[in-house]
Amino acid sequence: MAYGTISEIKEALRSGESALSITKSYLKRIKEFQNLNAFIEIFEDDALRQAKDVDAKIANRTAGKLAGCVVAIKDNICFKGHRVTASSKILDGFESLFTATALQRLIDEDVIVIGRLNCDEFAMGSSNETSVYGPVKNNLDISKVPGGSSGGSAVAASAKLCTFSLGSDTGGSIRQPASWTKTYGFKPTYGRVSRYGLIAYASSFDQIGPFTNSIDDAEIITKLMSGKDDFDSTSSSKNWDIKVNEKGRLAVISEYLQHPGLDPEVKTELFSTIAKFKKIGYTIKEYNFPFMEQLVPTYYILSTAEASSNLSRFDGVHYGFRSEKANGVEETYVKSRSQGFGKEVKRRIMAGTFVLSHGYYDAYYAKAQQVRRLIKNKTNEILNECDAILMPTTPGTAFELNAISDPIQMYLQDIFTVHANLSGNPALSIPWKLHSNGLPFGLQFMAENFNDGFVLNLCKKLEKEL
Ligand code: GLN
Repeated sequence: MAYGTISEIKEALRSGESALSITKSYLKRIKEFQNLNAFIEIFEDDALRQAKDVDAKIANRTAGKLAGCVVAIKDNICFKGHRVTASSKILDGFESLFTATALQRLIDEDVIVIGRLNCDEFAMGSSNETSVYGPVKNNLDISKVPGGSSGGSAVAASAKLCTFSLGSDTGGSIRQPASWTKTYGFKPTYGRVSRYGLIAYASSFDQIGPFTNSIDDAEIITKLMSGKDDFDSTSSSKNWDIKVNEKGRLAVISEYLQHPGLDPEVKTELFSTIAKFKKIGYTIKEYNFPFMEQLVPTYYILSTAEASSNLSRFDGVHYGFRSEKANGVEETYVKSRSQGFGKEVKRRIMAGTFVLSHGYYDAYYAKAQQVRRLIKNKTNEILNECDAILMPTTPGTAFELNAISDPIQMYLQDIFTVHANLSGNPALSIPWKLHSNGLPFGLQFMAENFNDGFVLNLCKKLEKEL
């Protein structure tokens, strides 16, 4: 059996399955789909033990909301007593000393954690090809990449190797692979979900979020994970349920609709969807967004700057891998880092160090911060007048493995997703259409800050109406 949603799990439990039998069927399925390379490690014994505990709780009627559900986690989310490496050699052998708050909140509701999932090294990438464990294959077409950086999480949810999975989104790493695997991917508002226990890439962008096979599930899971956490000072205490007055107006951005990189079929679908929304009574308002050209550069200046600082802790002394051939402190740092980090991570550490360096700081880092403010202001201005901004998630569909070697070409895959990370807004990618090449692509909705519940429910409604 394959279970893809929380409601399917509830149904299975009602019809006599147990958490244990459900967990076993997931374990079997994970092994059947090993060729996808989505799982780095299966927590088999642990999951079976958890399942038995959950069954005891079900019998006692003390089970939580996620009893019977099985989650798999991106390899940058800490789970106490289990390995975590961010798919990097530099964290080889490292074990988490604590559990990420977001995950703990799901465990408190009796979710079973079945394993950790492949991703781009330190979540840097758009194709899941920079992992030390090798690339993940797209379950819908194994000659294609699943997207990244949370490629393993996308494939695990899409192939129903778990009830839902967790990923992280710094510049699109949940929404972009969701678009390419026909799943729902949600990046919550920055601050909605605690980052405690998420291995940091770019701290002012990173958010944990779910991959699911329904909007209901994205809502249930994000709501459970969200809320103030004393271990993350940027986490917000704002209520999940915020009263929002619906305006019946959706925004589109001219520069996005007309972007030369947009696949012609994606573009055609975008226009026909806009027409449908009009037909069912929505007003569509078109805006100019004068910072289109600045989105990707601003993102890469700021995220690499933050990464160069965050990744300085991996020095061969404090965590994981240490070069065996090194003599003395300096050489240990240099050799461990040279051997432990992959090419893309090194590129970003160097770029980030450069934009922060004396003499270039004002021209790059400080300037990018100013542009980020302009992007936020313009986004808020649009969302003051509209319920959501409607846009493609990705310019096209999943590409062949090894097809893109130029880093800039790879960075441009994020053109429609980095916007929400720069501005902090919640953004959801929903499965939308199949391209004539047979591959899926998603549609993205971005809403006002902390309107996470609102945008999920709006999409639920729009999905039904369409
Ligand atoms: N592809 C983007 C990058 O490489 C986004 C990654 C992410 O969201 N973690 O930085």
